[in-house]
Amino acid sequence: MIDWVRVLPKASLHLHLEGSVEPDTIRELQPSLGAEEIAAGTSFSDFSGFLKAYVWVNKLLRTPDDYALITRRLLERLTLENVRYAEVTLSAGMTLWKEQKFATIFEAVQHEASRSAVDVRWILDAVRQFGAAHVAEVADLAIERAGQGVVAIGIGGDEERGPASWFGDIYRRCKDAGLHLHAHAGETAGPESVWQALSIGAERIGHGIRSIEDPELVEELRRRRIPLEICITSNVRTGAVALLDAHPVRRLYDAGVPLVLDTDDPALFECTLSGEYDLAARQFGFTREELEELARNSFEFAFGVGG
Ligand SMILES: [Zn+2]
Repeated sequence: MIDWVRVLPKASLHLHLEGSVEPDTIRELQPSLGAEEIAAGTSFSDFSGFLKAYVWVNKLLRTPDDYALITRRLLERLTLENVRYAEVTLSAGMTLWKEQKFATIFEAVQHEASRSAVDVRWILDAVRQFGAAHVAEVADLAIERAGQGVVAIGIGGDEERGPASWFGDIYRRCKDAGLHLHAHAGETAGPESVWQALSIGAERIGHGIRSIEDPELVEELRRRRIPLEICITSNVRTGAVALLDAHPVRRLYDAGVPLVLDTDDPALFECTLSGEYDLAARQFGFTREELEELARNSFEFAFGVGG
C-alpha cells in the first residue's frame, strides 16, 4: 500500500451500506453465527452469486439498531482512511422487500451518521428488476427526505431484467423534487444500458465499464462530463471483467472520461478505498498526480456538496 494514499483526503461516492458489513460486524449482529456459516453466506463466484450474498447479509438486518450498528462500523473504517465525505447507498428497496418500516431505519442511520466525523449523505436505491411500482415506492421515500440527508435516487440489481427505460417518469418526478439521479449501468449489460441510464437523466453512472465498447458513448460521457464510478475489485470479483488486466479503467481515463474510484461493497469484495487507489497505481500505472486528480473528482462529482 502506498502510504500517502491512506492520508489523501477522499470522498466515497459508490458504497453500499449493506455490502460493507464485515464478518466481525455480522458476529455482533448475530453472535450465534460461526465463521464457516458467515463464509458460506458471503462467498460467491459470479454476479448472481454475489446478489445472493448481498441478500443474505440484508436478511441479517432486522431492526433500526442493526442498521445503526453497521453504519457506525462503516464510518469508523472510513475515518481511518481519511474519507471526509461519503454518499452511502442505502437499499430502501430491500427494506420494502423485507416489509420493514423505512422511517425508523432512516432515523437510526441518520443519527449514527450525525455522530461521525465523516460528512454523510444518502442515495436511496431501488431493486430495478422488481419493476416500476417498486421503484416508485422508493422514489416516494427519497422525495420525502430530499434535502434532509437524501441526495439522490438510484437503481441497482439486474440491468437485463430491469432496464432503466422503465423508470423515466419516476426519475423525472425525483428530479422535480430536487433529487439527483443515479444509476448502475454498463456493469453486466452492454453500452445500450448506459445510454438508457443517460436517457432517463442519470448524472453519474455506477460502473459503466462496458461503455468502452462504444466510442460514441465514450465521447458522450467525456463531452458531458458524466463520471463513471469505477470499482475495480468489485468488477473482478463479480466476473464483470474476465481478468484484472482486462479492466478498462486506464482506457476510459485516457479517453478523457471523468472517473472516480470506489469499493462498491467493501466487505463482500474484501477491499478498501485506499486499496483501490493502490491497485490503480500498481496494475494500471496511475501516477500520483493522476490519483490526486481522481480524489479531487470524488469531491467535485458529489451530489451533496454545493448540489
Ligand atoms: Zn454498486
